[in-house]
Formats: sequence, structure tokens, C-alpha cells
Amino acid sequence: MNEASIVIVGAGLSGLYAAYLLEKQGIHDYVILEARSRFGGRLLSEKSGDARFDLGATWYWPEVQPKLDSVVRELRLRTFLQYESGMVLVEQMPAAPARRFNKVQSESLRALRIEGGMASIVERLAEHIPPEKILTSHCVLRIDQAEQSTALVEAMTPDEVVYRVRTKYVLLAVPPRIVVDRIAFQPPLPASLARDWADCPTWMAPHAKYVAVYPRPFWREQGLSGSGRSYSGPMVEIHDASPEDGLGGVFGFIGIPASTRLNVSPEELIGLCRAQMARLFGIEALTPSADWLKDWSQDEFTATTADISLGGGHANAPATSPRNDSWEGRISGIASEWSPDYPGYVAGAIDAATRGLAGLLATQ
Ligand SMILES: Cc1cc2nc3c(=O)[nH]c(=O)nc-3n(C[C@H](O)[C@H](O)[C@H](O)COP(=O)(O)OP(=O)(O)OC[C@H]3O[C@@H](n4cnc5c(N)ncnc54)[C@H](O)[C@@H]3O)c2cc1C
Repeated sequence: MNEASIVIVGAGLSGLYAAYLLEKQGIHDYVILEARSRFGGRLLSEKSGDARFDLGATWYWPEVQPKLDSVVRELRLRTFLQYESGMVLVEQMPAAPARRFNKVQSESLRALRIEGGMASIVERLAEHIPPEKILTSHCVLRIDQAEQSTALVEAMTPDEVVYRVRTKYVLLAVPPRIVVDRIAFQPPLPASLARDWADCPTWMAPHAKYVAVYPRPFWREQGLSGSGRSYSGPMVEIHDASPEDGLGGVFGFIGIPASTRLNVSPEELIGLCRAQMARLFGIEALTPSADWLKDWSQDEFTATTADISLGGGHANAPATSPRNDSWEGRISGIASEWSPDYPGYVAGAIDAATRGLAGLLATQ
């Protein structure tokens, strides 16, 4: 039987940050179980040429997320401002050409991007964690109470090898809705807590993003910012996704609801996105050097059927652990949705993990 004092379920930002904090405290008796074959969760950066492009989270806002900003600096990651100079395109209907507007210079917050993409944060954290502690392709299916106040965590690999580990404490670095949907607890979680977790939407889970790469950000030569809004679609909100130098990139959020997208093939949707890029930015945009469509609603480790049918949003953070129940003191939620200050955001993953670990260490 494998043993570890702490089991972290999920190797997204919250799980890896919790492990990073444990390492900093000199606590090495833990293991991370991650269902996907990669770590990072909703932070996903794909490579094209010498740059990377974000298919998951893109920005953070240092003025209102100072703790995340200090983690980014501590990890010695470089940041740059989201490119926003120039005109914004608004497409009111497919038959009419997009209209150009000057961006209203508001007091909007500075949106920062990470050089090399958001996945650089999790990669940099992983450099501080011994690789044998991150078990990828280990999907946690059940957590049972065992003797002497321990819990037995059971995970399955894709080739159906069962991995069991006995532990004192489980940190759930998986969105609350996924926990309830995918992991069986014995004895079951208290009904009201399970309901609150199931009702908590996973931020951005119903969304899909299209990203296109070009040899250079040619729209800037036309005085365009790369930003756009469209009532024609399929993309409704479009932004420049270029790295600081070199290649050009544009991304857009798909406006077609997740339930309707189930009936549209990825090839068809990509074709529609390319055509929209050409409508907006000219014929050069029809043939990107690389492009991706990432539909998070069809990713079983981010979205559930509730995310597809009910849509998304930011919820108030639910309770992180059961009270007055035999699970009290054994499990605690630390994924971003459990952050009271930044639920669902990248900053929330840092906040919730910090709080969860402080709670755990206070009980030692
Ligand atoms: C398209 C998109 C755009 C976004 N844009 C922004 C943005 O610009 N700014 C911002 O602040 N936030 C943004 N977000 C949200 C941000 O990505 C998340 O808040 C953050 O990444 C959450 O990290 P996490 O570790 O809490 O959860 P996750 O990243 O969801 O990590 C959970 C991990 O648990 C794993 N897992 C799931 N089930 C199991 C299981 N049964 N057993 C083991 N492992 C399991 C998953 O594979 C995953 O690795 C965006 C998200 C998406 C999808």
C-alpha cells in the first residue's frame, strides 16, 4: 500500500502551487494525482515557431491581483501588456463590412500576459517539485474513509491499473462540480455540501477558444488593434494574441452555445472562424500558419453536463470542507472556484491553495 501524509488531487495551478508551498515548508510527504497526461489544467499554451499561444487562461490584472503578481515575480517570469493600440472592429451582420471604432480610453485595469504563455507558471512551479511526486494519467475515482482517521484514495490509469494511497489529508485541487460529478466518497459527502459544490459553475468550462497564428501581426499596419466584437460569429469577442515580438496571433471566444456546438464538427467550426478572420482582417487572415480550436466544454476533466446545459459564470465560493461530519479535517477544496476573493480566476487558484494549505498546517 502506498502512503503519503497529503494527497493533492489535480495538478492544475492550485494543486501545483500547494505542492510548491509544501516544498518551501520542507514537507515532502505528499503526492499529486492528475487525471490528464499533462499538468496545468485550464492553463494550456501551444507552441508555434518560437512562441506559445494560450488556449486556456490569457491574462491577469496585477493592480487587483497583487498576490498572483508577486508569485509571477518570485518565479522570475516576464510579463508584457496586452496589445490594445488601434481601432476596434465591430461586426453587426455578415453582409455588412465590419465598422471601425476608436477604443474608448477608459480607466480599465492593465491586463498582463506571461512571456511564453500562461503554462509557463505551472512549468516553473513544477521545477521545484520532484517529478516522481506528480503522477499524471492517474484519475481519482473514489476516496474512502479508513481506519485511524486515514483516507484511502483510489485512482485509475488509462490502461486500468488501479493506484491506491493511504493518507491523512486530501487537498481537492479539482473544481467543486467535477469533484461531485467524478469522485465517489464513502461515506458520502454531506448532502447540502455536495449540492453546493455541484451548483458551483466551473469558470469558463462552457467556452471554446479559436487561436490563429500569422507570420506577423499585419492588422497593426492597418491601424487595427486586433480586437473585435461580432454579432455574426462564430467568434463574438476577439483579441490580439501575438507574442511581444515576431509572430502575430489573434484569438476569439466562440459565441455558439456549448450545447449547439455538440452538433458542429471542429473542422466546420475552424472553417467558419477562418472565414470570419478574413472578413475582419482581410484575405491574409484566411490562411494562418497554425490554428487551434479548444472546446473546454467537451473536455471531461474541466466540464460536466451541467456546464454544457446550464452555462457558466462566477459563483460565490462554496465551503471548502464538511463541518460536523466524519470528513471534517480530512478533505479540503483548493481549486480556484473555492477562492472567496477571485473565484474562477488564475489568481483564485493561488488564493485558494494558499488558504487551504494554511488551514491544513494549522491542524498539524
Ligand atoms: C478558455 C479559458 C479562458 C480563461 N481565461 C482566464 C483569464 O484570462 N484570466 C484568469 O484569471 N482566468 C482565466 N481562466 C480561468 C483559469 O484558467 C482558472 O481559474 C485556473 O487555471 C484554475 O486552476 P485550478 O488549478 O484551480 O483548476 P484546473 O486548472 O481546472 O485544474 C484542475 C486539475 O484537476 C485535474 N482533474 C480533474 N478531475 C480529476 C480527477 N478525477 N483526478 C485527478 N485529477 C483530476 C484536471 O485535469 C486539472 O489538471 C480561463 C479558463 C479558460 C478555460
